[in-house]
Amino acid sequence: MIKQDQLLWIDGREVAALDGGTLEVENPATTQIAFVVARGRGPDIDAAVDAARRAHDHGPWPRMHPRERGRILRTAAEILRSRKESIGEVETACVGRPLREMVQQVGRAPDWLDFFASVAETQEDLVVPASGELMNYVRRVPLGVVGAITPWNHPLLITMKKVAPALAAGNTMVVKPSEVAPVAPLELARALVEAGIPDGVINVVPGFGTDAGKALTEHDRIDRIDLTGGTETGRQVAAAAGRNLIPVQAELGGKAPVLIFDDVPIDIAVAGATFASFVASGQSCIAGTRLLVHERSIDAFVEKLVERTQLIRVGDPMQPEAQMGPVVSQRQLDRILGLVESARAEGARVLCGGERLAGHPFERGYFIAPTVITDVHQDMRIMREEVFGPVVSVQPFADEDEAVALANDADFGLGAAVWTKDLTRAHVVAHRIRSGTVWINDHHRIDPASPWGGFKDSGIGSENGVEAFNDYTAAQSVLVNLSRTPFDWFGSSEELRYS
Ligand code: NAD
Repeated sequence: MIKQDQLLWIDGREVAALDGGTLEVENPATTQIAFVVARGRGPDIDAAVDAARRAHDHGPWPRMHPRERGRILRTAAEILRSRKESIGEVETACVGRPLREMVQQVGRAPDWLDFFASVAETQEDLVVPASGELMNYVRRVPLGVVGAITPWNHPLLITMKKVAPALAAGNTMVVKPSEVAPVAPLELARALVEAGIPDGVINVVPGFGTDAGKALTEHDRIDRIDLTGGTETGRQVAAAAGRNLIPVQAELGGKAPVLIFDDVPIDIAVAGATFASFVASGQSCIAGTRLLVHERSIDAFVEKLVERTQLIRVGDPMQPEAQMGPVVSQRQLDRILGLVESARAEGARVLCGGERLAGHPFERGYFIAPTVITDVHQDMRIMREEVFGPVVSVQPFADEDEAVALANDADFGLGAAVWTKDLTRAHVVAHRIRSGTVWINDHHRIDPASPWGGFKDSGIGSENGVEAFNDYTAAQSVLVNLSRTPFDWFGSSEELRYS
């Protein structure tokens, strides 16, 4: 049973905020307070950075053999797996996504610890062909203290995508999870501490972006900052990192197109589209929000899509039969419905949904009926801005070139999908789309081995895979003089050995 009152994790122990402050986490399905969590601010971030700094500069973690680090990370993975039901309930209580999906996602997150433990254990350093009588070997050393700022929409999984590679590479960390859903990241810290991670290696300080987030981002004693969040937040965090001359990795917003060619049977296309669009009430950075459908099949597609969308079982996310829960907050609800209204005002047609659900069991909570919109054009706000809700638009295309042009006509470039039976077309179109990930006849799938990053305004750098692990290290070049001939640069010798 996870406690309703949660503290910060700093230096291997649970502590209250220095000023005793707390924040409340609202259950979006009931609007009741699910958790009261210690609220960190600048001084708590300072304490966490101090602990992480000490653990990095003087502690055993960065110097530990990778197999020993790997053993601790794998133990934490097992602890988390054994708690997937209770942590899944925490996630549902914080964000409203159906329990059956959250338990599955929480059960998957520990795979990142196993994967990056393996990467660390099998990492090989290089000897490079430097000229002269030199041996030049290159060590991969941890960067130091990594600050991570995470969003509310997949609280454990997104935190894990940063924590697993950063720790496996020998860094220490300060994590500032979202104020909306900070509990599962705190449980991640607990599992790592129970697994035997040394004090100060993992510190988790919930708080608001405007104080705790800003304090971490602007801290001059961290060595890298990672963010997953909105594009505007990304600009602010990247500017602060730039001032401190530290690397920034940012996973930001999206507006994923889903290209559906007319060789795909309508039932399969509609099942794929609803999966892309409405999982997690559309509150996913890679939600398929722009359905681009060949003009020959669009009428049949739209008819079936509306029928299928209206059958999605929205309900209490704790109940196993619920397929969709609420959106996360009143603020999100207002923003989503505001964007739907703006689309109506600009001439779009709302074929289903577009309103808050009323009546039993929706007396409380932020439930929106899944929404399908047609008659859209590229200039509408609904087509340009990230909605982050259960709202999808449908647009026709005449041929492959138009489909690709519409898909690429967005400031974002995170995810995209192509649905077709034509093998060549699938690959060629995927290669023409400017986005970090393209699924063919699928959506949403991720893997710790699969690079994940945004093009354009969707981010900087990428997560997952061996390259992401390497990004948590710096190359240290060690040059060894192998010459037996003594030299004296300022002596009388005619010969200079310099390059
Ligand atoms: P958000 O930008 O409001 O907040 C993200 C985090 O940043 C939170 O912890 C917040 O407290 C913190 N923050 C906010 N302002 C800050 C500031 N000025 N300085 C430092 N920290 C600050 O985003 P959100 O509403 O929590 O999450 C939704 C957004 O995240 C969407 O835009 C979504 O597309 C994006 N997202 C992207 C990915 C991806 O992989 N690209 C994945 C999930 C979510």
